[in-house]
Amino acid sequence: MTITPSQNRTLFNELAAVLRGDQLLLPDDAAYEQVRQLWNGRVKTRPAAIARCLTVEDVIHTIRWTRSQGLPLSVRGAGHEIFGRSLFENGVAIDLSQMRAVTINPDTRTAKIQGGATAGDLIEAAQQYGLATATGTISSVGMTGLTLGGGYGSLIGAYGLVADNLLSAQVVTADGQLVRANAEEHPDLLWGLRGGGGNFGVVVSLEFRLHPQTTVLSGMLLYPLEQARAVLHRFNEFIATAPDELTIQSGFIQTPDGQTVLLLSPTYCGSLEAGEEAIAPLRTFGTVLVDQVQPVTYHALIHGADAFTPKGRHYYLQTQSLKGFQTETIEALIEQGLPLPSPFSMINIHNFHGAASRVGVSETAFALRQDHLMVELIAAWEPQSKDEDRRHIQWAQNISQALAPFAFKGGYISLLDEQEQERVPLAFGSNYERLLDLKRRYDPDDIFRSTVGHLTP
Ligand SMILES: Cc1cc2nc3c(=O)[nH]c(=O)nc-3n(C[C@H](O)[C@H](O)[C@H](O)COP(=O)(O)OP(=O)(O)OC[C@H]3O[C@@H](n4cnc5c(N)ncnc54)[C@H](O)[C@@H]3O)c2cc1C
Repeated sequence: MTITPSQNRTLFNELAAVLRGDQLLLPDDAAYEQVRQLWNGRVKTRPAAIARCLTVEDVIHTIRWTRSQGLPLSVRGAGHEIFGRSLFENGVAIDLSQMRAVTINPDTRTAKIQGGATAGDLIEAAQQYGLATATGTISSVGMTGLTLGGGYGSLIGAYGLVADNLLSAQVVTADGQLVRANAEEHPDLLWGLRGGGGNFGVVVSLEFRLHPQTTVLSGMLLYPLEQARAVLHRFNEFIATAPDELTIQSGFIQTPDGQTVLLLSPTYCGSLEAGEEAIAPLRTFGTVLVDQVQPVTYHALIHGADAFTPKGRHYYLQTQSLKGFQTETIEALIEQGLPLPSPFSMINIHNFHGAASRVGVSETAFALRQDHLMVELIAAWEPQSKDEDRRHIQWAQNISQALAPFAFKGGYISLLDEQEQERVPLAFGSNYERLLDLKRRYDPDDIFRSTVGHLTP
């Protein structure tokens, strides 16, 4: 049976009446399509309703009402989940993008944010006090989404994952209860929120540890493709002893004149003098075609990176986590990965090390606690034809398969696609059983099933 728009509106009247403001969007509302759109323009999923929550009570009402109707539920922060799990076809989407307040306490060096705040929201407020915390590499990604997956970024060596900086949270659980998770109350839940996926409830607020940090030394160094093998071998040796303050992303991009180049993108978060010294060896690894390394505020750094991945393009992504660059993995990247399938596509590699590697495997839900490289194979194209879809997806899958024999079996839960769910238990490793137990206690009916790192209770 097809539900007509008027039947749909009648069904949802009850929910609309209890939400603050005029915040329930149905498919025939003028604003629906614009609000529905996720970062990845490929995702066409159309929920039956989008509840734009303004308060914790709105979240509680929406969960309870949706459950009472037996409708599927999804949770959306900043809408960057690549495979569209923050929307559920014909379900109800709890949209937290209006709940983005940030409060900084400079005395305790902590930040309290609402569940929909982005990395940019937090850093903008914190920088006014000369403070920052670990975030992802671009500003528009949601802090909650980052935390629930783990959260790799340019400050990872010094401050760990985003999840490692989480001090407490407030969560509305599957039965519509507001629960505080901190060292004293529900510490098990706090543990699970640090990298355990969106399995346990709607996170309505989070508290993060801040660090004195404003200016970093950062920017791109580009090398000719012919030197990629030699540069990556030297890079591999170099990162084994790099200081915590220096985190280096690497990868392959296409320059505006159509040249494919190797990229090293260091970020040093200690003193600028020490940073110049630490980064200098990278310039001797090969012929540097472009050198953009310069002092920049952390705020400007993450905002500057937004331009590389604009909202609305079509994207597909695969990832593999490698112990390091060995001859075989360098060959796989170059032989299978190049040329890139389009000017917007890229290979981006995060360097997990330092503070993040020193956290014990069982201290948080995020289990891969050893130095590694998280390789993102990012296919990006303008919406054109089915052939373009196929070609780009195939490109990412081919390199991923070539890297797989050398990779950790799990990977990064935030970036696994629907067909890779068997990798989730492997990613959680020895934390998997404890996470399952947590899921059974906080969400036995699997209300929060449309999420990264989904656990079946
Ligand atoms: C352009 C781009 C850059 C990225 N860069 C990085 C990076 O540098 N480092 C990194 O580690 N990852 C990165 N990611 C991956 C990113 O961390 C995940 O995709 C993350 O899930 C996005 O969170 P979101 O709130 O923006 O997305 P959404 O699509 O809104 O949410 C994703 C999922 O998180 C859960 N969720 C979000 N908010 C809440 C909440 N308040 N309560 C409960 N559950 C919630 C839901 O399960 C939802 O399905 C990037 C992704 C993109 C698209």
